[in-house]
Amino acid sequence: MISRQEALDLFRSDDLIGIGMEADAVRRRHHPEGVVSYIIDRNINYTNFCTEYCSFCAFYRPMGHAEGYVLPNETIYQKIQETIDLGGTGILMQGGLHPDLKIEWYEDLFRGIKQRFAIHLHCLSAPEVTNIAEVSGLGLRDAIRRLMDSGLDSIPGGGAEILDDEVRHRISRLKCSTQEWIDVHRTAHELGMRTTATMMFGCGETIEQRMNHLERVRNLQEETGGFTAFIPWTFQREHTALGRFVKEEATAVEYLKTLAVSRIYLDNFDNVQSSWVTQGLKTCQLGLRFGGNDVGSIMIEENVVSAAGAHHRASEEELRRIIRDAGFTPKQRDTLYRTYFLN
Ligand code: SF4
Repeated sequence: MISRQEALDLFRSDDLIGIGMEADAVRRRHHPEGVVSYIIDRNINYTNFCTEYCSFCAFYRPMGHAEGYVLPNETIYQKIQETIDLGGTGILMQGGLHPDLKIEWYEDLFRGIKQRFAIHLHCLSAPEVTNIAEVSGLGLRDAIRRLMDSGLDSIPGGGAEILDDEVRHRISRLKCSTQEWIDVHRTAHELGMRTTATMMFGCGETIEQRMNHLERVRNLQEETGGFTAFIPWTFQREHTALGRFVKEEATAVEYLKTLAVSRIYLDNFDNVQSSWVTQGLKTCQLGLRFGGNDVGSIMIEENVVSAAGAHHRASEEELRRIIRDAGFTPKQRDTLYRTYFLN
């Protein structure tokens, strides 16, 4: 594994192709079979009510706002049925931090889903889990155990943004701290649940602060081995308060370099995702030669990123084509990155 200093040197280097080739070599070591995976799932945003006011977010509505909603269970069931009908294997369900939805609401929903459907529930995020524990008067471990018992299968890495409290204080002052994010993931791993690690970069952080993030997730992976994948993506500024201060979004070069350095530095992660949702299909395709071995989801529905200006769309056939054209074999996977039982 390379050191923090070596990773910093890569970030400061202009040798983009050299960094990409190094990342490609690490990717090949983890995935010598030349497969690039994708998943068919659906992102269901069960509520947009939120009390956190993150400056990079265009999705939330404050409590009492006329455009706020909480989806009824029946609507969620219907969306899941549609997902299954389209060949989907997972549900990624996330929402705002609602002050009145206690753990019983989630238990009832997850149980209801599992009674009706055989589908993987990749739901909530560290800030939501922390919020559910808080509003329900529970410790974190008890809350996660109860959510697991009612049907939660894994937790996405959302809410990580940059795991550096100086950055968090600036962009998401009220949302969970670095330590709270780590505590949720560590506790989930200890209870036998897999999670993903994400990073939203390009929100005005320094390279040192970006490295702090990478170092924290690498250390936790070293400790627990519970992360299935690392998913970096860039801040989308449209319609966000933070967009008034961060005038320029990360460029394709910055994205590819960060993806590649992540792949090289996070050698203890099996999977690194190249994102088409925020970068577009062409940059995503290039990312497959900069360390990415997965293109994420067909994403039947995604409200949070599209609210902030990412409007890329892709069909399964398009994703398979860009993967094949980059020299890889496309394979559908499930949420836990298993491809063996799918086409
Ligand atoms: S990012 Fe999440 S926690 Fe922050 S305001 Fe938006 S919905 Fe709320």
